[in-house]
Amino acid sequence: MYEVIIGLEVHVELSTDSKIWCGCSTDFGAEANTQVCPVCLGLPGTLPVLNEKALEYAVKAGLALGCEIAHFTKFDRKNYFYPDLPKAYQISQYDLPLCRNGAVEFEVNGETRRVRIARVHLEEEAGKTVHSGDNIMGSEYSLVDYNRGGIPLIEIVTEPDIRSPEEARLFMEKLRTILLYTGVSDCKMQEGSLRCDANISLRPFGEAKLGERTEVKNLNSFRALQRALEYEVRRQSALLDAGEPVERDTRHWNEQQGVTISMRSKEDAQDYRYFPDPDLVPVTLTAEQIETWRSELPELPDQKAARFMEQFGLPKYDAQVLTASKEVAAFFEATVERFGEPKTVSNWVMGEILRLIKEMEIDIEQEPIPISPEGLAELLALVSKGTISNNVGKEVLETMFKTGKSAAEIVKEQGLEQISDTGELEALVDQVIAENPGPVEDVKSGKEKAIGFLVGQVMKASRGKANPQRVNEILRQRLLGS
Ligand SMILES: [Zn+2]
Repeated sequence: MYEVIIGLEVHVELSTDSKIWCGCSTDFGAEANTQVCPVCLGLPGTLPVLNEKALEYAVKAGLALGCEIAHFTKFDRKNYFYPDLPKAYQISQYDLPLCRNGAVEFEVNGETRRVRIARVHLEEEAGKTVHSGDNIMGSEYSLVDYNRGGIPLIEIVTEPDIRSPEEARLFMEKLRTILLYTGVSDCKMQEGSLRCDANISLRPFGEAKLGERTEVKNLNSFRALQRALEYEVRRQSALLDAGEPVERDTRHWNEQQGVTISMRSKEDAQDYRYFPDPDLVPVTLTAEQIETWRSELPELPDQKAARFMEQFGLPKYDAQVLTASKEVAAFFEATVERFGEPKTVSNWVMGEILRLIKEMEIDIEQEPIPISPEGLAELLALVSKGTISNNVGKEVLETMFKTGKSAAEIVKEQGLEQISDTGELEALVDQVIAENPGPVEDVKSGKEKAIGFLVGQVMKASRGKANPQRVNEILRQRLLGS
């Protein structure tokens, strides 16, 4: 058994309308090479001009991650040759990143974990190469699309504070939630606007020195991240167990085969020959400017969760589940405004609503939740007044999701009103007593548990519409005289 040490490098595309150095559109999915100009194609003689919105979004991301923001920062050229990089250098930040020293907290098995953020810097996206065939190795030719080149990007680098593949996934989920709250990125992993590389090494427990690490790339989903790291833990453990060294390299995750494959030995910073970009002036930020941007940040997930606990008296678990998505948090709050009873609303939202959203595969970041807070409040009022039972309420909710009809309409159409009318209930109870002499004797001879069975039979006979509390009362009256 070894201690697992993981650090992540996360790339996040910022959702500005135009690119970082030119006015080209950043829309996803346009025809290849239609959103380009001499600047982002790197033609000689062109000059980059910083998009202020990109700077603002990068600072806001840094602030949301608890970072210190630099008052003086500059851009550097990272030199490497690859077809998707027309200038043969990427404009990035080297020794003076925009943001430093942040942290993200998240829960692992009910315990709070804290992962430090070493830095957040601003840079440009490269273009995109599309290889023919399944992968780069067997490919006969590659196509290059420069639409992506020059989209503003932040790179978030963590300290090696992550201790398991599961933690790595939970960290990424929390990071994504925070960034989505700020609105600086749409964080769509399937479109590549959020992606990460992972550095992973193993060492014997108690050992202070870090083991040799590998870097794993091509982690396009939370699942891929966790699986790839689990694979690396097994691979590196086997090497160490056999007394063989782990080679420092860069590895590609192959999703189909479920393995990581060595791509190349890892470069060092010196291989990139970083130097300050002479085409861009350094950026100075005043404290006032930073504070203005800070004041524009919305309430963030941890703040919202703390407020939900304080204001609504919710358990920590509820507060965290509800605030994991800003859409769900807003839905919950709007429902409580109309109905009250925060814990009741929380139970329904965490249980039934999240279940239906998952089952129906609704992407609530892209499309609205199919029912409104008013709709849920109306349904909960019907349940609390006893017009329908709790279980019937769940079925009505599902029908609301699928048809868009209101709770009252559905209850009326399907005749779902709970039967509380004593005469009607008594008739049902008498019928069940007549049909179940065995359990009836059990109750009379003191086995009170059998009452539950009889209540169940009445509920069944009423197709779930009988008021269970009233049924219980009537049964006791009939059989026990109390
Ligand atoms: Zn351009």
